[in-house]
Amino acid sequence: MQLWDAIVIGAGCAGLTLVNELINRGGGRVRVLLLEERNEYTNDRTWGFWNTLNHRFENAVSYRWPSWSVHYAGEVTHCRGSYQYQYLRAEHFYKLALAPVSSSSKITLKLGEHVQTVQEEEDLVRIQTHQGTHVGRYVIDTRPIDQQNRNAKYPDVHWLQHFLGWKVKTEHACFQSKQVTLMDFKGGEDAAEVLGVSDKETDGALPGIPFIYVLPFSSTEALVEITWFGPKVLAKSVYREQLQRYLQRKEAGKYEIIEQEYGVLPMSTLPTTTQPTRRIRRLGLAGGAARPSTGYAFLAIQRQAQRLADQLLKGDWENFPDYYSTQSRLLDATFLRVLQENPKRGPELFWRLFRYANPDALVRFLADTASLKDLWEIATCLPSGIFLKQSLFPNFLQKKEMETTQIQGI
Ligand SMILES: Cc1cc2nc3c(=O)[nH]c(=O)nc-3n(C[C@H](O)[C@H](O)[C@H](O)COP(=O)(O)OP(=O)(O)OC[C@H]3O[C@@H](n4cnc5c(N)ncnc54)[C@H](O)[C@@H]3O)c2cc1C
Repeated sequence: MQLWDAIVIGAGCAGLTLVNELINRGGGRVRVLLLEERNEYTNDRTWGFWNTLNHRFENAVSYRWPSWSVHYAGEVTHCRGSYQYQYLRAEHFYKLALAPVSSSSKITLKLGEHVQTVQEEEDLVRIQTHQGTHVGRYVIDTRPIDQQNRNAKYPDVHWLQHFLGWKVKTEHACFQSKQVTLMDFKGGEDAAEVLGVSDKETDGALPGIPFIYVLPFSSTEALVEITWFGPKVLAKSVYREQLQRYLQRKEAGKYEIIEQEYGVLPMSTLPTTTQPTRRIRRLGLAGGAARPSTGYAFLAIQRQAQRLADQLLKGDWENFPDYYSTQSRLLDATFLRVLQENPKRGPELFWRLFRYANPDALVRFLADTASLKDLWEIATCLPSGIFLKQSLFPNFLQKKEMETTQIQGI
């Protein structure tokens, strides 16, 4: 039986990006086996992100927008800086990422291999799939962690970004094709009505912060998503009704749903370890790639893969770096605690950031490349009182469970 230098479990975004970075560097002597449970690749997601980093999949980007807007309390903030917002379809990513893998002599991809057990021994790791047994010196595991059932003890916050997106073709022209709608809190305002809870019953507290996100491809075609930042997922009918109401309000007329995507991403301060044992490493969302304050992960996965490929080719398997700096983690933890304690103020806080911060500084902050000057600029846009309280005294504050009504999980 062949002993692989590394076995990567999961050939999704993180697994494929890492092997592409290795191949691009010549691959050295590292022989990698990629085990993927799916039999074929489909357009199972789309990625939106700012181009703060040169990445290997630039040629697969299908749309770029120079500006974005945030809608709150009847006001619209338009933002434009030196970065663009990019849109990458998974089908294009997979095509570009799989091509070099199929012609590489060092990387072997096996599809239809559902990993059942991972057993660590003294000098190797043994993996059992439906198809057979594989052994490697190291295992890089990208299988998802069950985000919905992780319990957080205060001061940790474990929220989720959960969303349903429809790519629609509408009868009437209703989208502004040159600008992304990053957050439209108006689109979330009818959430209490959709959930069938009255303000009186809930003291106005919703199970999180809902908003609409729109990536427009023309005046009649767009990806429209209802997104929630909150502690738990909702029934699918809630997302659907919110999307229907939004399209009605936009006077879209009749519309056809061409594609849809659903996702649940962690917005969490819970620790995720990249090195759970001596020979197992975690990568991608499983290794903490999702930015705690936003759920964005694509660029962090690219950046991490670039660093790791350099490192692994030098034979360093011991130090899998964290995805985010300590500074970012601390700031995100404070921000998430503030949101958890003051969910009703969430829309206003996001709006203030986009309204008052320099767009480039804010984008760099979201991409974890902010300078001290950027951070200062961002801090001055936020109300200092609640942030100081949370950053200085998180352990002394009682965790106030958000009042939520009984919400049906999926
Ligand atoms: C619908 C959706 C939209 C998103 N949009 C954005 C966005 O706009 N911007 C952004 O920055 N991030 C976004 N993300 C978050 C993140 O970038 C993606 O989830 C990304 O794909 C994470 O990469 P990954 O490798 O960790 O996980 P995945 O890409 O999901 O890869 C994990 C792989 O493991 C395989 N696998 C699972 N279990 C097994 C098993 N037992 N055996 C073998 N293989 C297994 C899976 O089939 C999969 O291929 C989105 C996520 C989703 C779900």
